[in-house]
Amino acid sequence: MLSIKNLQVKLEDEDKQILKGVDLEVEAGTVHAIMGPNGSGKSTLSYVLSGKDGYEVTGGSAMLEGVDLLDMEPEERAASGLFLAFQYPVEIPGVGNMTFLRTAVNAQRKARGEDEMSAAEFLKVVREKAKDLKIDAEMLKRPVNVGFSGGEKKRNEILQMAMLEPKMCILDETDSGLDVDAMKLVADGVNALRSEGRGFLVITHYQRLLDHIKPDVVHIMANGRIIKSGGPELALEVENNGYADILAEVV
Ligand code: ADP
Ligand code: MG
Ligand code: MG
Repeated sequence: MLSIKNLQVKLEDEDKQILKGVDLEVEAGTVHAIMGPNGSGKSTLSYVLSGKDGYEVTGGSAMLEGVDLLDMEPEERAASGLFLAFQYPVEIPGVGNMTFLRTAVNAQRKARGEDEMSAAEFLKVVREKAKDLKIDAEMLKRPVNVGFSGGEKKRNEILQMAMLEPKMCILDETDSGLDVDAMKLVADGVNALRSEGRGFLVITHYQRLLDHIKPDVVHIMANGRIIKSGGPELALEVENNGYADILAEVV
């Protein structure tokens, strides 16, 4: 599904190499987690995959189902089935949440050569999914994320993910002060959307989140590289012993 080979990234206007050769394969139907000390490049990886400005790819590749992601505009990446949820969701004053969702869904359908969803059908689907996520109708009408609480933003993010039905979901949940309820929400959202045709990459500091999600594979990132991969037990090892032992092992 997602295939990253020897990805190297530097800051665009600074001589600073951040990713120093990242290798990662996320198969369809699996959930991979990335943990790692602060500043190791986890968020940079998700930013580069999303096509955010300010980074320069100096080597390597990133493919989604065999198609080069790094060649595409951010909108094209989304249309081809990549979804990225960020630590700090953007607020869009003046644009109703429902309008935003419908525009996003239809842009994606169009890019896939599918017919637009009718207004009636969209309304039915969005109401169903919102209900599942305990999002009230009022929140669907408000401007996107404006004045939303942390928990509401998380719910909204999961709703976006549910509506877009992406192939590959990347969630960066690092150091953003997720409380237990929000963590549960994210985990439930991911678990509800787990399916054979879909891959997940969950970036997190919190072993607790992984208690709820139960990833298939856990990777540890440090200093711009994935330095160790294993099963869920790797997250427990980090929880118990921190990163020092793992870092010492690979040096
Ligand atoms: P993580 O998410 O693992 O905590 P980041 O990807 O946020 O790590 O950051 C990796 C390194 O790159 C850090 O040293 C950070 O300071 C640096 N960095 C990332 N983006 C920028 C930027 N836009 N300007 C300056 N430094 C940056
Ligand atoms: Mg950080
Ligand atoms: Mg980060």
